[in-house]
Amino acid sequence: MSKLGKKTIAVTAPSGAGKTTIVRHLMAYFPEMAFSVSATTRKKRPNEKDGQDYFFLSETAFKQKVKEGAFVEWEEVYPNVFYGTLKSEVERVQNLGKVVVFDIDVKGAVNLKKAFKSSCMTMFIKPPSIETLRERLTNRHTEDEKAIDKRIEKAAYEMSFEDKFDITLTNDILEKALINAKTIVKAFFNLKLPL
Ligand code: 5GP
Repeated sequence: MSKLGKKTIAVTAPSGAGKTTIVRHLMAYFPEMAFSVSATTRKKRPNEKDGQDYFFLSETAFKQKVKEGAFVEWEEVYPNVFYGTLKSEVERVQNLGKVVVFDIDVKGAVNLKKAFKSSCMTMFIKPPSIETLRERLTNRHTEDEKAIDKRIEKAAYEMSFEDKFDITLTNDILEKALINAKTIVKAFFNLKLPL
């Protein structure tokens, strides 16, 4: 086993808090980290690749995998839209001797912590405010206004999960958040755990 053991990092946030940007930055900076590709039933976006961004599955195929016990955790993140962490993905990344990184919703992160305990660090990315979040989602131009309203409503609920995670990282000024994120990850890499 590598000196990093079987450490995992779950990054979670209300949507639009900058989670994906922070995860991508960390992945580019730390060669010790590798992404766990989740399975989902949502439609593929034009810029996405199957097997790279997600494994895009039909609802039937997803539910079959649930039955087979193929997931560490899975959630209906949006009504009728399912997302899940595949055990095979976690194993694939761990077999590379790398720290597994999850980009995951709040409930999923809570469940990963339950499954992996101290070997998993859960990091909550917090937007400075709901208003900032709305601005960011609007500027992203990936959803219409109705979808943004839904995401905002969900974000307010997700903010209430903050105290369930190991670390909170406020993403007010991105450059600062990225520096803080790297410091936190380095400390976790060096941490001795009872693995
Ligand atoms: P998106 O569709 O925008 O890529 O992701 C929607 C939400 O689903 C995000 O909060 C993302 O982190 C979450 N998500 C992605 N993969 C998983 C997973 O494997 N399990 C859970 N529970 N949530 C996930």
